[in-house]
Amino acid sequence: MRILVTGGAGFIGSALVRRLIEQNHTVCTLDKLGYAGSLRNIAEVIEHSSHTFIEADIADEVAVQSAFERFKPTAVMHLAAETHVDRSVDSPRAFIDANIIGTYTLLEAGLKAHAENPAFRMVHVSTDEVFGTLGPTGAFREDSPYQPNSPYSASKAAADHLARAWWETYQLPVIVTNCSNNYGPFQHPEKLIPTIIRKALGDEPIPVYGDGLQIRDWLHVDDHVRGLIMALTKGTPGDSYNIGSDNERTNLDIVGLVLDAVARLEGRDRQQLESLISYVTDRPGHDRRYAVDASHIKSTLSWQAEVDFAQGIETTVAWYAANEDWSQEVAADVDGKRLGLSRGQNS
Ligand code: NAD
Repeated sequence: MRILVTGGAGFIGSALVRRLIEQNHTVCTLDKLGYAGSLRNIAEVIEHSSHTFIEADIADEVAVQSAFERFKPTAVMHLAAETHVDRSVDSPRAFIDANIIGTYTLLEAGLKAHAENPAFRMVHVSTDEVFGTLGPTGAFREDSPYQPNSPYSASKAAADHLARAWWETYQLPVIVTNCSNNYGPFQHPEKLIPTIIRKALGDEPIPVYGDGLQIRDWLHVDDHVRGLIMALTKGTPGDSYNIGSDNERTNLDIVGLVLDAVARLEGRDRQQLESLISYVTDRPGHDRRYAVDASHIKSTLSWQAEVDFAQGIETTVAWYAANEDWSQEVAADVDGKRLGLSRGQNS
């Protein structure tokens, strides 16, 4: 297939691009190279004869149209987005532009591509955060009500609704996926797991928001990528698929696992590492618990998670330890100040 991957220079997008090239697809990475995107993430494939890179903003209609005319995709996998919840609390506008207007622009370009090639299809990559927050029991299903709580999740929810409407109204074959929290190599250093790893490796205070008992359902990025490719190749247009691996952990559990791995990797004292934990003001509107019921993708597409969590954390810690130069370069624009409190209830 000729697959255009938006956001392909980001964390999940770059893992997807690498995998698609491995599978002999022809791939175009379209990315605006914002603060979270880096060509270093796709260095392995950038010169590959089946890979093209286009620097463009998905909200720029002319640039998107020209990319479609140049590359002539038979499929689009749409991952480009502003993704950091804390940033969305401080500056929601960028999320409206990228996540809502950008998705609209791609859907419109997709309609033209579909008119020229009835086999054209699109996967819109979204998050479980659109469903809001859960009490102590239960899990999000595809038909759970949308109740986004942060500007980030609200913008992703809006994009999901547009994708659905472009299928219902114009029969654009779009498949929506809603995945739980990802971890793995190449994740931007501002996100939770890279932050914990880098602070522990650097012997610096590890910030834990609130009581640290917020629960997320963690999935290795490679498992997500396999699910996305299955959704593209075997999914039903108009359908949506939750992706998650019944792997609920509190943020404090995550800190503990990372500290175990750092202690083993570097022969450090576990107690001393524990003393780095520093409780800080919680994120305003912080969702308490996410859990995903992935039975639909398991039963219809035969997807299941393969990466063992403890093993995945171990290899991720080792990757960050071996790639500190990558973290330094990618995080160069990020000044390390606490984000997400400037307009919130706690500011
Ligand atoms: P990321 O922040 O690492 O990467 C996003 C990429 O999109 C970057 O390369 C950035 O430059 C690019 N981008 C942003 N705005 C753009 C624009 N207007 N035009 C072109 N490119 C633009 O994000 P990620 O964690 O890889 O997430 C990828 C997708 O997966 C997002 O849509 C996100 O909502 C979704 N998702 C992420 C997770 C997770 O845990 N990371 C979980 C579920 C779903």
